[in-house]
Amino acid sequence: MTTLSSSPSSTSPADLVIIGAGAAGMAAAIFAGEAAAGRPVRIILIDGAAKPGAKILLSGGGRCNVTHDRVTPDDYFGGPRPLIRNVLAAFNERATVDWMRRLGVELTVEPTGKLFPVTDNAKTVLDALQRRIAELGITTRYGSRVTKIECPQPKHSALSTQDSALSTQDFVVHLLSGERLAARRLIVACGGRSLPKSGSDGVGLELLRELGHTIVPTTPALVPLVLKPNRQPGGRFEELTGLTLDVRLGLYDSAGRRKFELVGSMLFTHFGVSGPAPMNLSRHWLRARLESPAETWTVCMGHPRFNNPEEADAWLRAAAARSPRRPVAHLFTELFPERLARILATGTDRLIDMDRGERLELARALTRLPLPVESDRGWAYAETTAGGVSLREIDVRTMESRLVPGLHICGEMLDVDGIIGGYSFQWAWSTGHLAGRAAVKA
Ligand SMILES: Cc1cc2nc3c(=O)[nH]c(=O)nc-3n(C[C@H](O)[C@H](O)[C@H](O)COP(=O)(O)OP(=O)(O)OC[C@H]3O[C@@H](n4cnc5c(N)ncnc54)[C@H](O)[C@@H]3O)c2cc1C
Repeated sequence: MTTLSSSPSSTSPADLVIIGAGAAGMAAAIFAGEAAAGRPVRIILIDGAAKPGAKILLSGGGRCNVTHDRVTPDDYFGGPRPLIRNVLAAFNERATVDWMRRLGVELTVEPTGKLFPVTDNAKTVLDALQRRIAELGITTRYGSRVTKIECPQPKHSALSTQDSALSTQDFVVHLLSGERLAARRLIVACGGRSLPKSGSDGVGLELLRELGHTIVPTTPALVPLVLKPNRQPGGRFEELTGLTLDVRLGLYDSAGRRKFELVGSMLFTHFGVSGPAPMNLSRHWLRARLESPAETWTVCMGHPRFNNPEEADAWLRAAAARSPRRPVAHLFTELFPERLARILATGTDRLIDMDRGERLELARALTRLPLPVESDRGWAYAETTAGGVSLREIDVRTMESRLVPGLHICGEMLDVDGIIGGYSFQWAWSTGHLAGRAAVKA
């Protein structure tokens, strides 16, 4: 006969076990503890890492971009927008600011709209969360990796007759150590697959798949892109290492149809491109390849002032009329840093010497210059995960599973990914808030 571990914490079921002490799990623990409002509710927060919160400490370059001053459903991709809207409406960016203040963390907004702690130190955020968890008397079990979740069984099931030590009414959480914990309710907040060395390696998604959940296939998101070396144009992107500039990036199919477009800052690196624009585009490139593998997808770069080649051509014609003998490479320095202007103008001299076809070619280089993207930098460099538990299987008022009553899911595990700028944490806080409160109120 199987029995629960003899450790005191597991002799009777906990009211709530939370698996994963990242941003979402810690938020869920705090809101659950506060919702208990002094009632003797036993909450256990488990994490596989001995010291959880790795991502919080690394986030925002060690400063933790806690949220953004304006967060809308359009800043997210993945699950249905109306569902995302409901989640954000229940706990929005202003609620995050107030909550952080209650935790003792003052935030300041930067001109970009990103909010950081005034200390400019991510540890301020992690310490405040952990302090509140301790104040609320929540039991923490760090360094305890969960390997399996068993759901409550109907009384008449086979398990209930074979294993009388386990209440058929409870969840049973199996730890790697062999120990098992019983819980009346569960919150699963194991993160996605980004930065696997932090402990979020996708095992949580497998645990939920085993319970019947649909896992939308995952790809890295907010990840830098690797360019093919020594390829067009001029094979000279390597020369641009260290260059930062504002660009318009577009994703095009083989027929030249634009699937997605954005404007933002981009940094050329020794491997390819990084910074907000390529990182925000990465999920679209990866999802397009996943969803339409037979199609050829091209990432194109252009100057942000031109919406299309026609506008660039009009600008070139005006420039030609103004100073026809001016070298093109010189003219392009009005738009781009000199190193890039030289590459773009390769093979061309003065506008006056060009025919219409050559000028249109140049206009395309200014607006739709193909970037030879070869791959992404992988999970180790991804800031978040696209794909995950289908939001359609979640009641977004409580983050409770529609398939497994009593089990709530929050954070990056869900099929929702935000753009760069504090949106991932906002999703973690919002979903953690809903899950924590609902789990205790239930
Ligand atoms: C380098 C980097 C910088 C970032 N910067 C920002 C930023 O500035 N602003 C922003 O909004 N977002 C940022 N993000 C994204 C943000 O950190 C994540 O989206 C967010 O932390 C997700 O929170 P989560 O709680 O859902 O998952 P996670 O933070 O991944 O936490 C999941 C936890 O579950 C634990 N766990 C997993 N599996 C198990 C298991 N089987 N048993 C027990 N425990 C388990 C893990 O150890 C981990 O502690 C950044 C991400 C990275 C990688």
